[in-house]
Amino acid sequence: MDSTHFDCTGCGKCCTDLRLPLTFPEAVLWIERGGQVDLLCEALPWPVEPAADNAYAAYKRRRTFAASSGELPIRVGMTLAATFSGPCPNLGKDLRCGIYAQRPLVCRVYPAEINPFFALKPEFKLCPQEAWQAPTPFALDGVLVDAVTRDAIDASRRADEGSVEMKRALCERLGLDQAAVANEGFVIVTPERTRLLEALIEVQNDACAPGASERSWTFVSNRRATVDTLIQVGALGVMDVDASRESRQYIGL
Ligand code: SF4
Ligand code: SF4
Repeated sequence: MDSTHFDCTGCGKCCTDLRLPLTFPEAVLWIERGGQVDLLCEALPWPVEPAADNAYAAYKRRRTFAASSGELPIRVGMTLAATFSGPCPNLGKDLRCGIYAQRPLVCRVYPAEINPFFALKPEFKLCPQEAWQAPTPFALDGVLVDAVTRDAIDASRRADEGSVEMKRALCERLGLDQAAVANEGFVIVTPERTRLLEALIEVQNDACAPGASERSWTFVSNRRATVDTLIQVGALGVMDVDASRESRQYIGL
């Protein structure tokens, strides 16, 4: 049996220089505590519905909303992300989390994976080697042993799926209509904090009915071939973000 052992050493490396995915309530709390929240936008061409037994496509579908880019049907994913350079504003000098009981779900999950299609690979994690040499079993044959982490992963996935219509409504309210091609990068939008806080609260209080985005979205890519291909199939594609309306940037992976 393949076993992974892990115990957090409290080194604090996973609390530095992050874009930390947040749920809606976590994003509200983060801003209210004085933090910055960005919106990370990506999109997938979705010309036809994939086969029902395509588990990866079904996973993506549950986490994205329908939209169009020119003539091309697409699905858009948006992630709310707490953004900071250097140590997290909640990280104490003793490397302890200052909001431990209220820390975001994603902080409770690390170093495990939320995406069921990603295997846990210690070599891709920030944890020091000694953390992986602990006697505590963490995963057996790829299945997490730790029930608390499993519960946090389940809660994170439920929150992600359950907030898709709110994400669509938030994008509409903030006028977002540019997204990176999924797996190539992200369009990162940094709305003014008060405006974003108001929009988050309004969207959470509204009953967001299922539906498609009313906007025609534009793909952004730093790859000429990607943009040309998208335009050939009737989509809208550009090589850079429209930074004229608010703070936007493109980050390629
Ligand atoms: S909220 Fe706490 S656990 Fe999460 S990154 Fe910040 S200091 Fe680390
Ligand atoms: S990087 Fe790993 S060992 Fe270090 S604090 Fe984060 S989870 Fe713990």
